[in-house]
Amino acid sequence: MDCLFCKIVAGEIPSHKVYEDDFVYAFLDIYPCSEGHTIVLPKQHFTRFTDMDEKDAANLFAAVNKVVKNVEKILELEGANIGINNGEIAGQTVQHVHVHIIPRREGDNGGSMHTIVGTKPSRDNLAELAENIRNSF
Ligand code: AMP
Ligand code: ZN
Repeated sequence: MDCLFCKIVAGEIPSHKVYEDDFVYAFLDIYPCSEGHTIVLPKQHFTRFTDMDEKDAANLFAAVNKVVKNVEKILELEGANIGINNGEIAGQTVQHVHVHIIPRREGDNGGSMHTIVGTKPSRDNLAELAENIRNSF
């Protein structure tokens, strides 16, 4: 398969690996948003997070939890943003699901999750929206 991250997992393209287990592979982002920007991905190819089942997603996030703790410890961080660009509309450029760990530091001029989308929606239909989602499980 012609997938950049599958090639990194297979060792066909070099990477700065920080962690590996049976299920995941983690490495430093080659174009870091901040020092220590790390990517964690499942070794198996899934395009999107929403293509994974609950067990695979749990394995991925268990590894993310481990990796964040050590990145924060080694870089002496007070915090980090942890997230997925799920789908091209959300900014996904590599079509193999991956979790970004972006270290945050005082004065880095970054924002929070709340700054990802610029246009805020109406809050009039929150009850109806919540009910629709609740009823979909
Ligand atoms: P996304 O936009 O969420 O799909 O993120 C893809 C990420 O992969 C970007 O942050 C890129 O900087 C990173 N990236 C692309 N190519 C490489 C590579 N060869 N090694 C490490 N990171 C990469
Ligand atoms: Zn892949």
